[in-house]
Amino acid sequence: MKPRQLVVLRGRLWVSPEGDAHALQCVARTRKGSRCQNPVEHGQLLGLHEFRLGSAGYVQAYGHPGAADTVDADRWLAQHCTLHDIPEAIDCETPELRRFDIVRDVAHVQAYRSDVAYDGEPAVRAEEAGTTGAQDTITGSVAAVFEAATQLRPRPGYVNGLDYDEWYIEATPDLLRALAQLSRTCHERELANWLEQSSKPLCMEPLDAVLSYDTYPKTWCCRSVKAAGLPCELHVPERAADLGRCTYTHPGHTRICRTAPLEGGDRCKVHAA
Ligand SMILES: [Zn+2]
Ligand SMILES: [Zn+2]
Ligand SMILES: [Zn+2]
Repeated sequence: MKPRQLVVLRGRLWVSPEGDAHALQCVARTRKGSRCQNPVEHGQLLGLHEFRLGSAGYVQAYGHPGAADTVDADRWLAQHCTLHDIPEAIDCETPELRRFDIVRDVAHVQAYRSDVAYDGEPAVRAEEAGTTGAQDTITGSVAAVFEAATQLRPRPGYVNGLDYDEWYIEATPDLLRALAQLSRTCHERELANWLEQSSKPLCMEPLDAVLSYDTYPKTWCCRSVKAAGLPCELHVPERAADLGRCTYTHPGHTRICRTAPLEGGDRCKVHAA
């Protein structure tokens, strides 16, 4: 089992940098002068829960998700066993738990949910209530951008990547969505909408008046479609006549022929024959 480094206490996330939070050892000094060997928790009282941290993703944490703690959070944070849960206890080590930080601890954030019990929002709300909300949202959005940016990889361009100057780095849907979220957080609504739209498969039907396979289009339809490569309902081959385009349809082709129809005809030069 992975070490459960995150723990929920007082409805907030804490990190145990030295390892499993469940295995925390009491930091108090015993009467003999050495560090107490007792664990903070006897047995296993709490469970593993998963929380969504806004757009940043998901974290798994050991603890109790509700606001009402089933454990003594003060004792946990002081890192004392039940025996040393007394005011006169003297520590010989510094307690290890520190507040979770979305940027510093981004390694604990996963883009997707895992199979453990999903507990939704409480820890998130607590996280946001803990500091200034807007700053947290921006920090969360930036973390998501960084996370998505780590996934960027070069892809081959035109022909199998034989020409190295045609390799390119594609903006992944994850990155575009993360950028959209960040833009929205910064009140750039128009940019956010465009980025959100760009993260989905789009109808790439060129809208230029003159089309041919030799010219590169300058404007595209850009309506959302079910899958990349498909046309939107306005640009299916059945609508070619209405659009004044070549009406030739090839079984299995989902796109309208790109060549202009002949003067007075309904098909292009190639397809008129
Ligand atoms: Zn102790
Ligand atoms: Zn379209
Ligand atoms: Zn044609």
